[in-house]
Amino acid sequence: MSKNGRHEAKKSLGQNFLISKEIAEKIVSTSGASRGGLVFEIGPGRGALTAPLAETGARVVAFEIDGRLVGDLETRFVRLGNVEIVHADIREVDLDREARNRGFDSYTLIGNIPYNLTSTILLALPGRLLCSKSLMMVQREVAERILSSPGERNCGILTVFLQSYMDIAKEIRVLPGSFRPRPKVESVVLSLSPALPGRGPDDREAYLAFLKLAFSQRRKMLSSLFRDAFGMRDAGIHRRLGRESGVEMKNRPEQLTLEEWFRLFGAYRQVSGN
Ligand code: SAM
Repeated sequence: MSKNGRHEAKKSLGQNFLISKEIAEKIVSTSGASRGGLVFEIGPGRGALTAPLAETGARVVAFEIDGRLVGDLETRFVRLGNVEIVHADIREVDLDREARNRGFDSYTLIGNIPYNLTSTILLALPGRLLCSKSLMMVQREVAERILSSPGERNCGILTVFLQSYMDIAKEIRVLPGSFRPRPKVESVVLSLSPALPGRGPDDREAYLAFLKLAFSQRRKMLSSLFRDAFGMRDAGIHRRLGRESGVEMKNRPEQLTLEEWFRLFGAYRQVSGN
């Protein structure tokens, strides 16, 4: 506990607390949270976002891993009646089930999330089928990567997987001085909403596993990457993949467009039987 009666921030849990009321209110108003709706918050910390969320009248359920903060949050918010604090690791939580258990068939997700969990949390979003909108604070560089076009140098697995299923927009720029402790980098709040059905492949889990394989060695050409993945016995397999998908296998993963990823995944499933 520090002199001001607050628990010290834990770096290992990515604790950079938002101190700008203005930014917190902007995030909450952009989320569209309102009475009658359900909002899940990832990592409420000291409640910077939880407080304005509670004021909207929405039902708020906030998942916090740090037991020291959970007690403080409960004391502050539970008496309001529309806020629930859950002591949990968000990686273990099935949010769709949590929504159904509370009688909701959709929810909004908000998080000033720990930077070390950005990929894990974002890659799980397309699998959260009841999530109608999410607002996520990420490092500016990560936001730029996510928003870059597949086929551009900067793109990566987050770009391809998220854009396959979601419409993504940059909403709010947040400077380091808006947090304590002050991070080294700027942040951006992104909004992510489900795209119209039919954009990305139906089997999201298999597609993600395939992209993880493809991006595991992004410097390699697709031909050698898939040849290695299938083992030397199947040396001709990358040629079949190229033929069936119409994708130039001399490309590196970052050079493919979204359409090409969809075709390559289709061919991969046929050829590999996965
Ligand atoms: N929302 C608060 C704010 O805006 O000031 C806190 C943001 S801080 C960047 C991230 C929060 O996520 C911390 O409170 C941290 O303890 C919590 N956290 C870290 N890992 C977590 C996990 N696996 N599951 C749930 N919460 C986590």
